[in-house]
Amino acid sequence: MHKLVVANYKMNGDKKFFVSVAKKINKTKAKDTKIVLCPPFVYLPFLKIKNKNVYLGAQDMSQVQNGKSTGKVSPTMLKEFGTEYVIVGHSEIRCNGETEQTIKQKIKLAIDNQLVPIVCVGEKDKSSGLEELSSQIQSILDAAAQGDNVVIAYVPVWSIGTGELPTVTKINKAVQVIKKQIKDKKLNASILYGGSVNEQNCTELLKSKIDGFLLGGVSLKVDKFLQIVKVVDNV
Ligand code: PEP
Repeated sequence: MHKLVVANYKMNGDKKFFVSVAKKINKTKAKDTKIVLCPPFVYLPFLKIKNKNVYLGAQDMSQVQNGKSTGKVSPTMLKEFGTEYVIVGHSEIRCNGETEQTIKQKIKLAIDNQLVPIVCVGEKDKSSGLEELSSQIQSILDAAAQGDNVVIAYVPVWSIGTGELPTVTKINKAVQVIKKQIKDKKLNASILYGGSVNEQNCTELLKSKIDGFLLGGVSLKVDKFLQIVKVVDNV
């Protein structure tokens, strides 16, 4: 299976930044790694992708196809701009009251619209075990069918932007929990790690059984982002 690196730019950047991101990332040569760039919605049209390894993603989408949903963006709208992936259930959205029910609807709607959902799961506190993962993974099982393409990003909330990392052993445990729970469904799933990844710690983190990374803060430094892509591609 190919490897994957996803950039979540969150609510950062401007038109000039994303035009330059596209120019730099278009020059990337990767053997076996897909790159997914998730800018704020309004900048999707400025990421002109001319590289077969690079794809566009969105940071969220509505759980309904169209209609009375002020401020929301539908999968059809995303697809009009060439989007192929969508992040679902990021903790920065879950914390605003997003329920597992809504997450399920988003995963299903994404798949129905041929968008690959990148579903974020992970525990809130550093001291917690991995029990929280099971209801989050259940949403994926409820929404997806056998053979569907799904990306599952293990993103412990306490690690986001803090510089604190789980051990390789803990990441492997999370991967094991995810794989065990999804096994019977026979999804076409990739598993990523996200949370405080940078160009210095990525080699160590890749000792775990992951297929790549979901990158937040470091995505804003394009050269460092590309350094990480290179490391992932050479594993
Ligand atoms: C994230 O919020 O998805 C994330 C991975 O953030 P960071 O890399 O900045 O910790």
